[in-house]
Amino acid sequence: MRFSLPKALGYFIGGLWTVWGGRKRIEAKQLRNLRRLVEKARRDSPLFRRLYADLRPSSEIELHDLPVTCKPDLMREFDDWLTIRSLPLDRARDHLQDIRKVGVPIDDVAIFRTSGTSGEPAIIVLPSSFVEYSFGVSMAHFDRHQWKLAREMRERGMRVTITGGNGHFAGVGFNKLVRDLQPRLGKGLDFIEAEQPIGEIIEQLNAIAKVSCIVTYPSMLTILVKEKEAGRLHIEPVVISTGGETLTSELRERVLRAFPSLKYGIVDAYGCTECLVMSFVCSHGRKHVHEDWVILEAVDEAMQPVPDGSLSATVLLTVLANDVQPFIRYDLGDRLRFYKDPCPCGSPFRSFQVEGRQATLVRVGNVTLSPLVFDLEHENARRIQLVQTSHRGFEVRMDLAEGATAGPVFQEVIESVKRVFRDNGLDDVTVRESKAAPEITASGKFHEVLPLRSGSRQTTT
Ligand SMILES: [Zn+2]
Repeated sequence: MRFSLPKALGYFIGGLWTVWGGRKRIEAKQLRNLRRLVEKARRDSPLFRRLYADLRPSSEIELHDLPVTCKPDLMREFDDWLTIRSLPLDRARDHLQDIRKVGVPIDDVAIFRTSGTSGEPAIIVLPSSFVEYSFGVSMAHFDRHQWKLAREMRERGMRVTITGGNGHFAGVGFNKLVRDLQPRLGKGLDFIEAEQPIGEIIEQLNAIAKVSCIVTYPSMLTILVKEKEAGRLHIEPVVISTGGETLTSELRERVLRAFPSLKYGIVDAYGCTECLVMSFVCSHGRKHVHEDWVILEAVDEAMQPVPDGSLSATVLLTVLANDVQPFIRYDLGDRLRFYKDPCPCGSPFRSFQVEGRQATLVRVGNVTLSPLVFDLEHENARRIQLVQTSHRGFEVRMDLAEGATAGPVFQEVIESVKRVFRDNGLDDVTVRESKAAPEITASGKFHEVLPLRSGSRQTTT
């Protein structure tokens, strides 16, 4: 696997040309890319050859001709899914089991796994063209504000990613891959494992001479902001980049107050392992889709498009820059809403808001609750977790603050959780104290609420 600068430059120039042509050129480019990918998938992926057998010729295909695909079906037929025959599932799994090989390519491709917070983990295979696209197209879509930010980040110190280090996750693996393929692009990047005790994470951050940027999940940011408020964390980044979970406006405001150095605020990106570079955040804080290479469809439960301005039931993703593992109308499970009006930044790319990641919703009987309704904050606890252990049973786990007594803290938190259930008509839910420590997922996310999964509680996968 190698990174080709001329090819990345090709994506860059192509990206600029597309932007200059406005909507008409973007849509034409998207359709050309889609038809090319469909043709390749039909030719080289036995699974897609079967799936598309009765469809019209690739040169006439439209997006809505294509059936929706989903993770369990694709993963079940992994060996037939890829357009290369040299990476059967067993070989991919062997590679993923060796922790020393995180971000190390296997032949001409890189492989990562998803965290599996919404079910079975998927194995994601990326060709070098995807890495070239990631840099070339992102830069082509930068506005003046983003160029300034990128320069300042480089000049002001290290960009530190805090995420799970316990597996082949893209959070750390992609940076390592890029650093090995093209050392110049990977300069100034550092990584801290999210699984460590909070005290150690803070110590490592404080030991870095200058931190210009933190990249992490909102759940980790919740912990960092508490440490900053308590005066234990000393870093002064100019920007914080979050992703992977919902960033609430409360957390955003609290972080901006605690870190006055945040000249560029918080950039809340939306991506996933299936498509690491899917959208960009503009100077007005909106997320715009890289539509020449990525298609996001907001759809209802019947997989029919919802109008702009309405919240979708799920979203379908098509990745036009990965022709080794085709993701075409792939059901991601997240809910989003496209803006009706054009963005004041002037970008021709459509913009959207993400309103809920499926992985964290709690279901009790017929009631579905967002994890955000629970107040899992206490001045005497460093972090608190509510775990659903059965259909109507929950337990509270916590890391106490130094010198705090467990009893009264548990009592107050349990009372507040029970109040939320009662307010939602759920009187027969039990909530008890647990001696276990809060868990974080294998990919390093800390979910304040861990819902029950398919009959048994999901552990740290
Ligand atoms: Zn914008």
